[in-house]
Amino acid sequence: MSSAFSRRAVLTQAATAAAALAALPALAADKKQGTSISPAATPPAAPAPATPVATPAASVATGPFTLPALPYADTDLAPTISQSTIGFHYGKHHQGYVNKLSELVAGKDWASKSLDDVVKGSYGTENTEIYNNSAQIWNHTFYWNSMKKAGGGAAPAGKLADAIKAAFGDHDGFKKEFTAAATGQFGSGWAWLVVKEGKLAVVKTANADNPIGTGAGTPLLVCDVWEHAYYLDYQNRRNEYVSAWLDKAVNWDFAAKNLG
Ligand code: MN
Repeated sequence: MSSAFSRRAVLTQAATAAAALAALPALAADKKQGTSISPAATPPAAPAPATPVATPAASVATGPFTLPALPYADTDLAPTISQSTIGFHYGKHHQGYVNKLSELVAGKDWASKSLDDVVKGSYGTENTEIYNNSAQIWNHTFYWNSMKKAGGGAAPAGKLADAIKAAFGDHDGFKKEFTAAATGQFGSGWAWLVVKEGKLAVVKTANADNPIGTGAGTPLLVCDVWEHAYYLDYQNRRNEYVSAWLDKAVNWDFAAKNLG
């Protein structure tokens, strides 16, 4: 009994001593890690944007880089886009790009630039990661604004509807071209309605590519065709997602505002 007790006491003592020793480098490592991470989590010195919510215009956000609020409740697009899809897509993917960009630009000149300027300035340079993450933040914010509760259908009469008629003949002509771009983009990417030199056009981009970087035009609307945008709701049926997106979710008010 007593030998068992003393063995336990010795073991306890040894464990305590070991823990005390181990704690020193562990604390130092924690502190070091905390110090190196914290500037990325809170970008220094830049003033908070006046309205850190989704801005319904082509200029989506300015630095510092934060996740803009969704312009509606996460249940508002269901069943076209489920709450679960928004939870992952907005809460994990979009947030992930914000976190990653903040980490990449910490302590660099990029941190004080607007998001638009980061996208434009990094496009086609060796700053691939900065471009990809900044463009993905931009694209996703634009995507959330390209949808609304009970959206979809044809653009309401006005300048935008006239421009659609001029470029595509009618709403069905637009729909056909947009669907072809969205379903024809091989792999991950985006389908856009843009205006270039006064004329509307549909363009598709791969991965993070964005018309304000590539110069394909001024975006009016975008549909995300990465699998993460639709897989939980439609699995591999991208065509069903695009069709529902156009018929029930697209936000023409946002497009009209971007057309000006
Ligand atoms: Mn996405």
